[in-house]
Amino acid sequence: MIETAGASRAAIELIDIRKAFGSAGGETTYAVDRMSLAIRAGEFFTFLGPSGCGKTTTLRMIAGFEEPTSGRLLLDGKEVTGVPAHQRNVNTVFQSYALFPHLNVGENVGFGLSVKGVAKDEIRQRVKAALESVHMAHAIDRKPSALSGGQQQRVALARALINRPSVLLLDEPFGALDLKLRREMQMEVKEMQRKLGITFIFVTHDQEEALTMSDRIAVMNNGVVQQVGGPADIYERPANRFTAGFIGDMNLIDARVVAHDSDRLTVDAAGGRFDLPSTLPLQPGDPCTLAIRPEALHFVEGEAGGRVRFSGAVSEAVYIGTDTVYSLTLADGARLNARVRNGDGQPMPRTGAPGTLACAPSAIRLLTQ
Ligand code: ATP
Repeated sequence: MIETAGASRAAIELIDIRKAFGSAGGETTYAVDRMSLAIRAGEFFTFLGPSGCGKTTTLRMIAGFEEPTSGRLLLDGKEVTGVPAHQRNVNTVFQSYALFPHLNVGENVGFGLSVKGVAKDEIRQRVKAALESVHMAHAIDRKPSALSGGQQQRVALARALINRPSVLLLDEPFGALDLKLRREMQMEVKEMQRKLGITFIFVTHDQEEALTMSDRIAVMNNGVVQQVGGPADIYERPANRFTAGFIGDMNLIDARVVAHDSDRLTVDAAGGRFDLPSTLPLQPGDPCTLAIRPEALHFVEGEAGGRVRFSGAVSEAVYIGTDTVYSLTLADGARLNARVRNGDGQPMPRTGAPGTLACAPSAIRLLTQ
């Protein structure tokens, strides 16, 4: 099903797209499988997933560097299946900046326009404007070799923006940068996108980067979209075990349903029995997963007042400044991590001591798999 975005128009629609690269042992495997989604005009949309999940292949199909094996691709409402890359109003920025070393920054940025025969005066103005938008106008006469990695990446962005694309594709553009510079560039690029109003389609395997920058994220695994949603949706309401485990720290505990009511499930997990709110269509005997964020858990002594309790032995306590991260080994050997704020008055047991962690029933997310 294609998601529609209220009044805002879809810039890109992928309809039941599949991409196979050859076949291994007679069986076709798909790098991208049955992908259907719509990306809104002006949106910062991210494909997020582990290495090999099909992110780059998806981007390359949108750019026109690869053709889908089946399915339809629409840009601005028009079918572009079979339309070559240079005739699509999209531009791509790759992780490797691929600047020409013998040309200076201004010439690199203006290169595409001079090839097209655009008048020199216009090129000069547009190069200046593009470099200003990435805070690099001061370096117009420098050679790429005299720039830092972050500066080269900014120039590569300016070169992509100068064509005034309606869609900009960015494939792990900060992959080669150190962490501090990466954080700076994330903020800058996000701000630039907001100002320019261009649709940005971003690829990363870094969930923190995706949460920081995106309006919406498609989480992918093995060529299949697992969930599409805003950062808070994905973080707070993961749809399945893969997304829950991939986004942020999460305790995932195997469980089995013992009884179900219309809006409650009773499950056995980690040596205990829990009664939790849930509308999942599960039957007694079905396996399921309890997903709990470490920051939702607190140590309690005695009664936990309506909260869900897990008892075990503290196997590890790691001080990380504002918080301490505890690991509690439960009766069945499963481990539960808790991130507890230092100095807020709650009990802080020592390693080796027994401990009971508790959380509100609403902090536990039940997942079908
Ligand atoms: P990474 O983060 O490592 O770049 P990715 O999520 O971008 O990974 P893709 O590069 O899209 O993943 O690859 C998806 C799958 O398709 C992988 O199994 C990869 O080996 C395969 N693949 C990609 N391109 C080709 C190709 N040209 N020929 C054969 N297989 C390919």
